[in-house]
Amino acid sequence: MAKYIFVTGGVTSSLGKGIISASLAKLLQARGYRVTIQKFDPYINIDPGTLNPYEHGECYVTEDGAETDLDLGHYERFLNYPTSQANNVTTGRIYQHVIANERAGEYLGKTVQVVPHITDEIKRRMLLLGEDGRYDIIITELGGTVGDIESLPFIEAVRQLRWELGNNDSLVIHLTLVPFLAAAGELKTKPTQHSVKTLLEYGIQPDILVCRTEHHLNTEIRKKLALFCNVNINAVIESIDAPSIYDVPLLMLKEQLDKIVLTKLKLSSKTAPDLENWKAFLGKLKNPTTDVEIALVGKYVELPDAYKSINEAFIHAGAMNECKVRVKCIAAESLNEDNVAELLKGVHGVLVAPGFGERGLGGKLDAIRYVRENKIPFFGICLGMQCAVIEFGRNVLGLKNANSHEMDSKTKHPVITLMDEQKKVKNMGGTMRLGAYGCDLKKGSKVSAIYGKSHISERHRHRYEFNNAYLEQYEAAGMMASGINPDRNLVEIMELKGHPFFLATQFHPELKSTVANPHPLFVSFVAASLAHRKASSTRA
Ligand code: GLN
Repeated sequence: MAKYIFVTGGVTSSLGKGIISASLAKLLQARGYRVTIQKFDPYINIDPGTLNPYEHGECYVTEDGAETDLDLGHYERFLNYPTSQANNVTTGRIYQHVIANERAGEYLGKTVQVVPHITDEIKRRMLLLGEDGRYDIIITELGGTVGDIESLPFIEAVRQLRWELGNNDSLVIHLTLVPFLAAAGELKTKPTQHSVKTLLEYGIQPDILVCRTEHHLNTEIRKKLALFCNVNINAVIESIDAPSIYDVPLLMLKEQLDKIVLTKLKLSSKTAPDLENWKAFLGKLKNPTTDVEIALVGKYVELPDAYKSINEAFIHAGAMNECKVRVKCIAAESLNEDNVAELLKGVHGVLVAPGFGERGLGGKLDAIRYVRENKIPFFGICLGMQCAVIEFGRNVLGLKNANSHEMDSKTKHPVITLMDEQKKVKNMGGTMRLGAYGCDLKKGSKVSAIYGKSHISERHRHRYEFNNAYLEQYEAAGMMASGINPDRNLVEIMELKGHPFFLATQFHPELKSTVANPHPLFVSFVAASLAHRKASSTRA
């Protein structure tokens, strides 16, 4: 039977529950346990797919095509193991299911209520991944902060499960903040005491406190927290601010978070965690021999979380190249023909980001024209590929006002258009081309050399596709479709001949980059940017 760990958050949001959960999971996995992590989000959207990135950051897409919270990206990057729709559940999804059951008459005339119907459905989903013997330990992260109105049913479900599963098979970790008051020169435990009190009011005694802090917790503070929150002193875990999220597993190891968890769950902690590869990655990450500057041109650049997976993929790829990647975020809207040379000055590579809608399109096209003509390494992802196609259509093929049907429904040259099956779509949620699809790579292409394979699978999240009616013209002029989805004959990758590195993908490679497996396209894009840097410094 699987064991269950619940992670709640107190005092404030953004304490990094996802990173703590992923770090604990990493340590348990490194000791040989089969672990997965799931996230329960208290908002009413069925999934984050319809949310603007400014709300909760990037929408992360799983192999099975679920649009999920960005924390699932951390889980995969840390564990190198895929998640699925079952790993992310929202209040909306719970209610949708219960209401559908009600309409189907499944409740046999009973009044349908938050307790027990909603809480039962939450509990059922919390236990689901543990049922088929695939995992030894399931970590459940509860979104939101304890005390919020909307997280109450989840907290109640955890209370019931703690009681039903018992002490040996479940535990609660409460992540909290221990602020430092500069004027008093001290760390303060009161917010933590209050948030544990709130949890106690709901009938939950946390087993372990993980305390986010800017300064080390001394014994006195640890004793105080233990005494006032009814936890053992060795269950007061310090989580000090770290230079990188990838340091956190080792910090948690030092604090023995994994050991305490295993002891409480009556699991053996005899096998020491094997973190050799992780440490090797960290070694490279911390000791770059060189650096490179890459521009990220996008629409949501003010909010780093909007491009979380891309930023992390650069960190992985940088470490592989023993090179620090400095990502220079450029708002596409601020770019134009006149300032593009100035804004991209000194940049060694340009990535045009995924996105939706017309805002910033012109700036993206100007950036692409500039890097195409000046032979600066270019990587386009999803909308970034579509922009590369539009730019080439307009400026090389002379297709006047070539565009995507998304931006201009009346364009004379719809080089990017909707597939027939997308034309029928009315609902916005969950209806894009989502999740993993296969792709054949052309022999002799750059991508086949990079992947070292002839067939790959990558994840998608888009509605629009390259319009095959224009393919011959593109290929004749040197832009080659080097990756094709064999089932539907859809263009997945475009690459430009005679350019040191000009690659664009309809899929999202960033979603599959992990610490253990940095994505080959990012690795080679960073290498190409490095090569460009070297070549330009010798020229200068
Ligand atoms: N808006 C484009 C489409 O729907 C691209 C989507 C994306 O970049 N994720 O096809």
